[in-house]
Amino acid sequence: MNRKSTIAGAVILAVLAAVLPLSVSYYISRTHSIEAEQRHLTEYGSWTIERSSIAVSDAISALHEIDAAGFSDCSEQHIDAMRLTVMNHRAIEEVGFYKNGLLGCTSWGPVTKVIAQRPADYQTADGIRVNMRIHPAVSKGHPVIAFEYKNHNVLVDPSRLVDVLVDNNMSLALANDRGDVLATLNNPDPALLKKALSTNGSGSTRDYLYATYRVPGWVAIAAERQDYAFAGFRRQRNYMLPIAILLACIMIAAIVLVLRRRLSPLAELEIAVRKREFINHYQPIMELATGRCIGAEALVRWRRPDGSLTPPNFFIPLAEESGLIREITDQLIQLAIDEMHAALSADPEMHIAINLCAADIETGRPLESLALALAARRLPTSSIWLEATERGFIHADEARESLGRAQKAGHPIAIDDFGTGYSSLGLLHSLPLDVLKIDKSFVDAIGTDSASSTVTGHIIDIARQLDLEVVAEGIEQQQQADYLRSHGVRYGQGWLFAKAMPRDEFLAFYGKHRRASAA
Ligand code: C2E
Ligand code: MG
Ligand code: MG
Repeated sequence: MNRKSTIAGAVILAVLAAVLPLSVSYYISRTHSIEAEQRHLTEYGSWTIERSSIAVSDAISALHEIDAAGFSDCSEQHIDAMRLTVMNHRAIEEVGFYKNGLLGCTSWGPVTKVIAQRPADYQTADGIRVNMRIHPAVSKGHPVIAFEYKNHNVLVDPSRLVDVLVDNNMSLALANDRGDVLATLNNPDPALLKKALSTNGSGSTRDYLYATYRVPGWVAIAAERQDYAFAGFRRQRNYMLPIAILLACIMIAAIVLVLRRRLSPLAELEIAVRKREFINHYQPIMELATGRCIGAEALVRWRRPDGSLTPPNFFIPLAEESGLIREITDQLIQLAIDEMHAALSADPEMHIAINLCAADIETGRPLESLALALAARRLPTSSIWLEATERGFIHADEARESLGRAQKAGHPIAIDDFGTGYSSLGLLHSLPLDVLKIDKSFVDAIGTDSASSTVTGHIIDIARQLDLEVVAEGIEQQQQADYLRSHGVRYGQGWLFAKAMPRDEFLAFYGKHRRASAA
């Protein structure tokens, strides 16, 4: 993932981190309060059923009681017994007696008007006939429910069936199992009742929350307006909001932290190593007298996922500091051999120079894998030059030991950037070296009257004294090349000849320049 998509991903995550806790807390508060409210409504439903079953049982026991008294004549004793029944049963308002399909007498007394017995709306499982809404002809009261058994009936005020204490926001209803509503409290919405009766358990409409409570034969419905029910939700949301905001802040902080780490140069370098994003470019090394190419220096480039190339000076110091350079060196050695083995085995005079970091110069760590890689391709060790800078000679004994091993194995050893460090002549003399690379700064000084210009000649002398081959780095002008050649420098490298280039370009260049002397 490149930098841009990492940042884009982090922004998306941060937005989610902000939105998620808030919406989860909203969702939890809402479901909690809906569940709590519906439990509450279900409780009211069960109380309604409890109250109504007390009233209905009372009415039925009154019916059985008056029937058991055995009267069927509307005599004074009969009417007294009916009155006594009304007195003894709180749920009933009136008792009546039908004779030959006409109301003969009630607990009020004999009936003189002709009042026909109405067919029942329905009959309960235990044989009680129910008229859901009749207007008492005798008392002229409000509509009541009539329960009939044999020839007697008792009238029950519907409000007794929903005799539950509720506040004004809640409405109740009692219906039979056929869906007929027998009694209501606080005028429940008819559409709501219709929906509630067709469902089981609890539910909601646009305006109401409701719960149904069923027992055999009966169903109670308790409903509440949503805005009232959600007062609890708002309370709970207010508790949860600060927690959700805190959580969102923590998550966003964590994302920013991870992003900063992920975008840190070191993290990027670690990913590049893991994804093997390093490639070699090859800069030709030329024989100055003939213009013949004798090989190349492998120079690392970091190819980013977007295709751009980062030069080594931007990441080698960090790679050395963090130790990642070891893995990078191993990858580059393997790459150089994989890319160049065919050309190297076709031309034993050709070489590839590889740069080693200070730590590897001291320990000689890459030598073993280098030997294995060369053996696998049947290449001579002499085809790989090793370049060491003076920074690698700080622990001179270790450097001497490991460079000695490398030289014994057959690798030509070059001292790179010569003249920029502080190595004494004595130290140089004691090191196993084959090649001295004059640093570009001394090549730049040629033909100028800077102090370094005189040093260039001395460096060439030192190389001669130490019996080292010389490669001059960074030659950009013909005049520099002429000077170096006339002072006995055999090899040169620089933009005058070619810049560092990818493998195929270099091989084409090499093909053109390998026999330049003969031409
Ligand atoms: P170096 O080993 O001294 O490599 C020579 C540097 O000089 C290269 O820069 C090369 O491109 C540049 N150069 C060559 N000719 C000219 C010229 O005519 N004019 C100018 N202006 N520059 C020229 P590069 O490739 O940027 O490498 C910089 C340094 O990074 C190298 O210096 C070397 O110390 C280090 N480096 C490069 N590749 C590796 C590697 O694979 N491993 C390690 N450990 N270090 C590497
Ligand atoms: Mg070098
Ligand atoms: Mg150099």
